[in-house]
Amino acid sequence: MKTDHTAFKDNIPTQPVLDIPYFSGTLEGAVNLSLPFLENRIPFAVFTPGATVAARAARNTDLSKLLKHGDLVLPDGCGCVLAARLSGVRLPARIAGIDFAEALFSEAPPFSRVFLYGAKPGVAERAAARLRERHPDLIFAAADGYGDDPARRISAFCPHIVCVCLGAEKQERWIEQHKGELGGVLIGLGGSIDVWAGSVKRAPRFLQRTGLEWAYRTLRQPRRLPRLAPLPAYFWKCLLSRRCSKRQKKEEKGKSSVKM
Ligand code: UDP
Repeated sequence: MKTDHTAFKDNIPTQPVLDIPYFSGTLEGAVNLSLPFLENRIPFAVFTPGATVAARAARNTDLSKLLKHGDLVLPDGCGCVLAARLSGVRLPARIAGIDFAEALFSEAPPFSRVFLYGAKPGVAERAAARLRERHPDLIFAAADGYGDDPARRISAFCPHIVCVCLGAEKQERWIEQHKGELGGVLIGLGGSIDVWAGSVKRAPRFLQRTGLEWAYRTLRQPRRLPRLAPLPAYFWKCLLSRRCSKRQKKEEKGKSSVKM
């Protein structure tokens, strides 16, 4: 028998891009889906793999399996929307993980408890201090991402939201491992914590709107450049998957008309 949680998960609208079941709703939809889990502190894993992470997953079965365990997998970046289009499916818009988390902070009931985990020593505390100013009705705590695993501390804090910012794959593995014992909405958010702390600047709005945030991030942090390398092969694979599924559909149609 299906648990309520699995049944709920089956009803979340998704579109598969290669193997990744991306959420195919809006930002508001994603927040509305997550709120009951937040309020009742029921474990709910939100992953935010952009196209560079999806490209890695296309060549790494372990990562691909891991990403499929997300309760909500958000298309963080216009690369995901493009990959979907090439695969022949439609994602209405990109949903940046940082926008999702901020929208969730705004909608969370007063006194909701938010734990920020990750980044270099001092950064998480600074991010918490700045977020406290913007959301005085929420309770923030923080731990950096290079010391001992703070899972016990986080559990004792009884969080409604845990932002896990350890970089792609590491953060999803951590969430998968600890989700049951923590509860609440656990979000893999990568470098968002550096933005909240003010150590990294987000791209100006017009670049975000025109889908060029990735170019801005790469220019500001050239160490990210190698991450773009697998993208052409990934987009090509998406295009091939569309042609394969078209051919399959044609063959199935042919078979059913012969039967008749
Ligand atoms: N990080 C961490 N512990 C680690 C590795 C990384 O806390 O063992 C932090 C790192 O300091 C940074 C964040 O994880 O704040 C990941 O940032 P990145 O820009 O690489 O992630 P992305 O946003 O691209 O997923």
